[in-house]
Amino acid sequence: RSLEETLERLVADVPDFPEPGVGFKDITPLLADHAGFTQVVEALAAPGRDADGNPTVTKVLGMESRGFILGAPAALHLGVGFVPVRKAGKLPRETHAVSYSLEYGEAILEIHTDAVAPGERVLVIDDVLATGGTAAATIELVERCGGIVAGVSVLLELGFLDPRSKLPGTQVHSLLVS
Ligand code: IMP
Repeated sequence: RSLEETLERLVADVPDFPEPGVGFKDITPLLADHAGFTQVVEALAAPGRDADGNPTVTKVLGMESRGFILGAPAALHLGVGFVPVRKAGKLPRETHAVSYSLEYGEAILEIHTDAVAPGERVLVIDDVLATGGTAAATIELVERCGGIVAGVSVLLELGFLDPRSKLPGTQVHSLLVS
């Protein structure tokens, strides 16, 4: 099956969740399908390889919490380590923190200061790119560590929200744009 067929079949559109008027993309049917999950993880990891198949990054970063589910197997697939970017107050050692605005209010994301070394190239993976705020905050965290974001890889980009305007200069790879 093509990647597009897999995504259309296994990502569910849930109207009015978490609130009326919002359409939620539910990836749990995809996660439950071994062939579909494998196909999607390989496709998300692909921007972290060169033409010979060798990794061009030394870490994959995933954002809490669906970025963990997709990013960790992608890291193993590439043969590199995984770094979790977490919500405020979860990481036990010294962190960098970035706050960013949500539709209502603010959120904070954190990374361990030693999770990415200066000059290290990383691939950022998440499920859905909506306004781009989460990805932009993650890029800032990598840059605070002195690292380089080689690309952002997402399963689905909500193009009508124009997330790329928040990510100037970043290579964005979306498996599906809706
Ligand atoms: P953004 O910061 O507005 O780009 O929102 C992206 C973050 O919100 C990601 O971490 C997603 O996991 C989550 N998100 C936003 N919309 C959806 C959705 O429709 N389905 C699943 N996750 C979503």
